[in-house]
Amino acid sequence: MTTKKMESEQLIERWVVRRIVSGESTASLANTAFVYGNDLMRLVLDRADGSLQIMKEPIDEVVVFRKPEDRDEENVCRCCGMEHSTFKAALECCAYLD
Ligand SMILES: [Zn+2]
Repeated sequence: MTTKKMESEQLIERWVVRRIVSGESTASLANTAFVYGNDLMRLVLDRADGSLQIMKEPIDEVVVFRKPEDRDEENVCRCCGMEHSTFKAALECCAYLD
């Protein structure tokens, strides 16, 4: 009965858990948008129980324009976006997860 979750959902759930652990509320995370390939997903707060739902936005293509001044932050994990104190820690952040 277990359907394998989409990788994008796993990444988002991992990101949410880390933010919650670091003290943020589900309400403050609501409306965060995620881009995974050509998928755009958004966190929506379920007002009934305060949980976050991942809603996939019905779009065909995602184009991200980076401004020249948006330098890649070296110590940010490219997988989940968490900041780390060292570049090495950022590289290793999601490297060993399934
Ligand atoms: Zn990570």
